[in-house]
Amino acid sequence: MRIHRFVSRSFVLLIAPLISAQTTSLKPADTAQLAGYTVASSNSEHEWEKKFRDGVVSENVKENMRRLSARPHHVGSPYDKDNAEWILAKFKEWGFDAHIETFQVLFPTPKERVIELVEPTRFKAKLQEPAVPGDPTSGQTSEQLPTYNAYSIDGDVTAPLVYVNYGTREDYEQLDRLGVSVRGAIVIARYGAAWRGIKPKVAAEHGAIGCIIYSDPRDDGYFEGDDYPKGGWRPREGVQRGSVMDTDYPGDPLTPGIGATADAKRLPIKEARTITKIPVLPISYGDALPLLSALAGPVVPEAWRGGLPITYHVGPGPAKVHLKVASNWDLKPVYDVIATLRGAESPDQWVIRGNHHDAWVNGADDPVSGMSVVLEEARELGELHKQGWTPKRTIIYCAWDGEEPGLLGSTEWVEEHGNDLAQHAVAYINSDSNGRGFFHASGSHDLEKLMNDVAREINDPEKNISVWQRARLARIANAKTQEERDEIRKRSELRIGALGDGSDYTAFLDHAGVSAVNIGYGGENDADAYHSIYDDFYWYAHFMDTDFVYGRALAQTGGTTVMRLADADLLPYQYTGMADTIGRYVSELEKLLKQKQEEAKERDLELKEGVFSAVADPRKISVPPPKEVVPPYMNFAPLQNAVESLKKSAERYEAAASKAQSEGAPAISPQTLESINTNLLRIQQSFLSEKGLPERPWFKNQVYAPGAYTGYGAKPLAAVREYMDEKQWTRADSQVPNVAKTLEDGAAAINKVAEQLEAAEAPAH
Ligand SMILES: [Zn+2]
Repeated sequence: MRIHRFVSRSFVLLIAPLISAQTTSLKPADTAQLAGYTVASSNSEHEWEKKFRDGVVSENVKENMRRLSARPHHVGSPYDKDNAEWILAKFKEWGFDAHIETFQVLFPTPKERVIELVEPTRFKAKLQEPAVPGDPTSGQTSEQLPTYNAYSIDGDVTAPLVYVNYGTREDYEQLDRLGVSVRGAIVIARYGAAWRGIKPKVAAEHGAIGCIIYSDPRDDGYFEGDDYPKGGWRPREGVQRGSVMDTDYPGDPLTPGIGATADAKRLPIKEARTITKIPVLPISYGDALPLLSALAGPVVPEAWRGGLPITYHVGPGPAKVHLKVASNWDLKPVYDVIATLRGAESPDQWVIRGNHHDAWVNGADDPVSGMSVVLEEARELGELHKQGWTPKRTIIYCAWDGEEPGLLGSTEWVEEHGNDLAQHAVAYINSDSNGRGFFHASGSHDLEKLMNDVAREINDPEKNISVWQRARLARIANAKTQEERDEIRKRSELRIGALGDGSDYTAFLDHAGVSAVNIGYGGENDADAYHSIYDDFYWYAHFMDTDFVYGRALAQTGGTTVMRLADADLLPYQYTGMADTIGRYVSELEKLLKQKQEEAKERDLELKEGVFSAVADPRKISVPPPKEVVPPYMNFAPLQNAVESLKKSAERYEAAASKAQSEGAPAISPQTLESINTNLLRIQQSFLSEKGLPERPWFKNQVYAPGAYTGYGAKPLAAVREYMDEKQWTRADSQVPNVAKTLEDGAAAINKVAEQLEAAEAPAH
């Protein structure tokens, strides 16, 4: 998957200086004592990390990509397995102890696909991407997975067509104002704005019986830049494949919560809640144009217009469409490659790094631009090991299979190894597609300072300033208000975003409570061939990170993060920034309530004043919006108190950690440190609730979760927030104490470690 371009721009990182003001015992940044290290251990770590970064080679990233993207390699294909075996051999060659772990997952592949216009004229959609002359892999037709949306239910429907813009819930409110219903209709939505799986979900909720999703050239085609092969943007017949699995839980639809091993107990397909309710297919704008051109009805609102040379109408009809989807509903194997470099001192503490290796087709960008980097990191870490470096903790490199259909490989692995992860996992560092531009990171905020520290060490390959500095200045340039700019300049750490469910970190953070971060570079890609046959080596090497220098930068970033975590004396989590961020999430809930109250009051007033009927053009249909209940006040006090507890315990811990690392501090015994670190790595788990989110029990983390209606996008404090979005105020209010309780549990866990550290520091007599 990856976070798509539309989303990723808003995530452009947020990162900050190395040493926070209150830790006076630490040295200034240029002779930096690393967080979690003593002066002596910092020096040695600096040397090894520098050696690592100098040893990473762009050309290797490029050659890894050439090999991995040479043929189509989706789940169940011959080259998917071939790649897994090649990756396995490489890990072994570099000195890792490696194996392939296999799961059996439900993975539908297309059997029959039809989209045709049957009224007022006839047109049959091609549903086929043509090869491009000069692009050597675009013609590997026999191995290419046809254009489709995985986990669409089978169906055969014929109905009038309605254009629904991006197909979000807000778009349907707009349709109501236009007096247009989609009940019994087939909707056509454009890609973008929300995750694709939301489009058929919301369409079905509004009574539609089929869903077509197309790529409008305004969003990723000729409106943005020259299209392929002249430029890198999606051409006329280019189609975005992708999963439309619902967001109840990721992973194999038949084995929620448990590993999909060969003998696992499986749900019947009928009971799998994550398969869509209506059939859905993706198409190119070449195929969409005749359909959209045949629509009448109201002209769409200005914000709904795309880049096609037509007047966009909503419908319904006179266009009538026949949509048919049938899949082979087979179990397929996924091959996760797991490679271990055993730690010398604390082998039971695991630092985990991963990227997926499966693609929709050749997948040079998604995922191979990230996977090639992860391999180059592993090669160079193996090289350091030969030169005498052994990590203090165990390092595990993972190449996941089955990410594209629904985070299958990583989710099943996390579910299968949940107990081990709870005992041993320090953090999970993920990457996916990588490109040119700005460093970005999102993740759990206990890793925010670590990612700031690492980003300051990495040189931007095209600007000769640190990637941290570049990201910070970009944040200032893009800030919308003076207040935002002031905050960026004043705060020592650049903020990192929260994670939704766009890639393989999801099961780690949201289900198992493992601290996680997702990293990459982007924002300057003048190209987009996402999930099409054109996302291949030829395209990537011509239009993306053409000299692979940002691939090298990502390898330096990922490898440095892994080493920093693996070698630290005291695990470098930071909780003051995390408490600050959670405090902001609580303030956002308060703001949201106030805003909803004001909106409802204003709407009520305007309805009474007759505003809507007065401004409506009597020659057009315009329906006033429904009267809304003004939301009642909610009691956020338990959350506010819990945030105060978090802040206090975080400050206490930080003071103790800073003291422990100051020069002349009494040495803490290795046994005590081991125990402190083990307690530290479990803190993220205290934010889990066994019951999970009220409507989505698989999602255990009460701070971080994707939205049920945003998918890739995050909805922090989802148990409360999602009910607020649904306007279910009593339910939202009733969730406050539960969420506050997990925050209090987190504060107590931090306090306990602070106490342990203080006791260890007490001078021995
Ligand atoms: Zn991906």
